[in-house]
Amino acid sequence: MPGPTETLDPRFDDLIVPGAELRRLADGCIWAEGPVWMPESKTLIWSDIPNNRMLAWSEDGGASTFREPSGYTNGNTLDREGRLVSCQHSPGIVTRTEPDGTVITLADTYQGKKLNSPNDLVVKSDGSIWFTDPPYGILSDHEGHQRESEIGANYVYRLDPESGDLTVVADDFDRPNGIAFSPDEKTVYISDTGEPRHMRALDVNPVNEGGTLANSREFAKPDPPASDGFRVDANGNVWTSAGDGVHVFTPDGTLLGKIHTPEKAANCEFGGPDGHTLFITATTSLYAIDVAATRAPRP
Ligand code: MG
Repeated sequence: MPGPTETLDPRFDDLIVPGAELRRLADGCIWAEGPVWMPESKTLIWSDIPNNRMLAWSEDGGASTFREPSGYTNGNTLDREGRLVSCQHSPGIVTRTEPDGTVITLADTYQGKKLNSPNDLVVKSDGSIWFTDPPYGILSDHEGHQRESEIGANYVYRLDPESGDLTVVADDFDRPNGIAFSPDEKTVYISDTGEPRHMRALDVNPVNEGGTLANSREFAKPDPPASDGFRVDANGNVWTSAGDGVHVFTPDGTLLGKIHTPEKAANCEFGGPDGHTLFITATTSLYAIDVAATRAPRP
């Protein structure tokens, strides 16, 4: 029986563990998203958006409910202090979970108008929170609650969590979705699950030059689509969700190989006690596979 990995470029074999099997850790979700590894508790937290809940998995405890209701939370990440930062669909806000469990709102409006439904996010080394705001949580009652967009556009934002200042960093995506930085933070990758359905790479100008984005170009176009959420490894390779699993691209956009999942994948995350587990949220299930690669350290 063929394994779950498919090598398309010999460099892929350095990133995976030969013979590694794909493990199904949990099922019963409707649309699993937002995986984030919590190093202190050695727990993987993820979102089950339509079921309005978040789940947790650990090697010892298996799967359990983490938060319910969850405000239709989607993407999750950790900030510089290791706190959980999340994108919520309904209401459409960005939240932070404090060490005592209190959930506070970091952003809810742009120029006085409600955000659509923040989808995915990443924290830069300077503490700023970058997130995408497509309409998936307001198009219907499936992943939130249907309503008109007050902003009338789907932007990518940079949030200063101290001041609450919100800045539009990209206004030319149809439905911006996943977002991650290269290890040196000179490049930001953003996927578009609208039209065209692809991933873009953009240059990040230094903060003292405004931190603006430039040189927007197509980076990759996973087939079958789509790139939803993704992560970047220590060598700068981009591990993105796709219609048939996870696709791994070099920084120049060369497809190295795939990890096939039995269900459409939405996102992935490096974690596990040694950092060499790739967790994959794929439709109803949470999967894991041992890999040789590991997450990019923060600059
Ligand atoms: Mg997403």
